[in-house]
Amino acid sequence: MYKTCSIAQARKLVGKEVKVAGWVHETRNLGKLRFLQLRDQTGIIQLTAKAQRESDEVLAAMDLPKETVICAEGKVVESSIAEAGCELIPSKITVLNQVKSKLPIDVTEHVPAELDVRLDYRYIDLRRPKTRAIFAIRSRLAQAFREKCQLMGAIELHPPTIVGAATEGGAELFRVEYFEKEAFLVQSPQLYKQLAIIGGLDKVYMTVPVFRAEKHNTMTHLNEAYQMDMEIGFADAKDAVDALEEVVLYVLAKVKKECEEELKILQRELKIPSSIPRHTYSFLVEKLQSEGIEFRWGEDFSRAIEEKISEILGYSTYFILEWPSDIRPFYSMPDKTNPKICHAYDLNYEGLEISSGAQRVHDAEMLVEQLRKRGLKPADFEFYINAFRSGAPPHAGWSIGLDRLTMKVCGLHNIREAVLFPRDRVRIRP
Ligand code: ATP
Ligand code: MG
Repeated sequence: MYKTCSIAQARKLVGKEVKVAGWVHETRNLGKLRFLQLRDQTGIIQLTAKAQRESDEVLAAMDLPKETVICAEGKVVESSIAEAGCELIPSKITVLNQVKSKLPIDVTEHVPAELDVRLDYRYIDLRRPKTRAIFAIRSRLAQAFREKCQLMGAIELHPPTIVGAATEGGAELFRVEYFEKEAFLVQSPQLYKQLAIIGGLDKVYMTVPVFRAEKHNTMTHLNEAYQMDMEIGFADAKDAVDALEEVVLYVLAKVKKECEEELKILQRELKIPSSIPRHTYSFLVEKLQSEGIEFRWGEDFSRAIEEKISEILGYSTYFILEWPSDIRPFYSMPDKTNPKICHAYDLNYEGLEISSGAQRVHDAEMLVEQLRKRGLKPADFEFYINAFRSGAPPHAGWSIGLDRLTMKVCGLHNIREAVLFPRDRVRIRP
């Protein structure tokens, strides 16, 4: 057995004998007194050895190079100097593996590392408490999403990643060779979750990777991203926005409550509104124009404009409802009386779009018309359109970008920090 408990647990076991394992974080040799900070995923404990008290073997081990993998046995005692309020008096230290190369990242963060280097050596970067905190929060976000969806009576689906045709039109897809045929990596699970609703599953959710071959170079776009999706049968736009608000507030509250330690490491104080304001696209355009900002109805909001909107509103978390039909995907339901707008919505969280959705068109002939209007060929979507001729209920849904949500919750400037091995235009390794 390499360890009897984690370091966090050991810190609560004053007076007890424990065996812990991890990495040498730092050492300090004052001659007669030697300190070794031992780190695992849960925290750090100080090992303290005295020349006249501990064995020569233990004393020698107290000088091991940083990042050596060890296990240490001994008694946890109270300490007025150690940060944790306790320390471990080692009776035995065993080296489990040595460090045999020069490490490109300083885990103690005395020397800051460039993000590119950190991503190249993610396996070392992950040992930094800050990086670990990001992934613990990301995990909790994803898990809380699942929890909430289950509580709402939705079932989890696993749609395909390799698809035979584009799911949303447009050309920004990664092509893959699929035996004798051409296939694509999926850009969104959209059509598949709709097919499930037509199949009568009523309320479904999924957490899936999506692939977009867009040549972005921004702090908020990746070419492989994770989406958390929900689709609801017999629902309109309001029902879906209500559900999105409920899910997002639940997920944020869970993280605030259960990731206190991680949020502290990241120096984040999560503000969770009791409800999220809802504005129409047209209202926001009027606001912009009344502030003298040049913006034409019908354009998409750029990041710079989104910042202006937050400034004008005085807050940066809000829904944008009823978008111009022309800038939303073909499956967004146009308004009956004013088809220039459609029942699509976005959620901006802390100034960034983290979610999009729409009430979907559930009428086959209307879908054909919508595709034609956009210059897409209905024949390419035949399978999909036909499904709507078999008894398709009205439905609506949305998708939350997990990477962006993690980024904003953790207060990061670059989405790449929130992703284990991010894929962007230049980065496909490791
Ligand atoms: P944007 O307008 O910011 O480029 P989008 O409207 O094209 O995003 P959607 O198709 O609405 O994106 O995707 C749903 C959600 O998935 C977005 O709200 C966002 O949170 C996330 N997302 C979309 N594209 C990316 C990407 N390239 N990288 C990371 N996350 C993304
Ligand atoms: Mg969007």
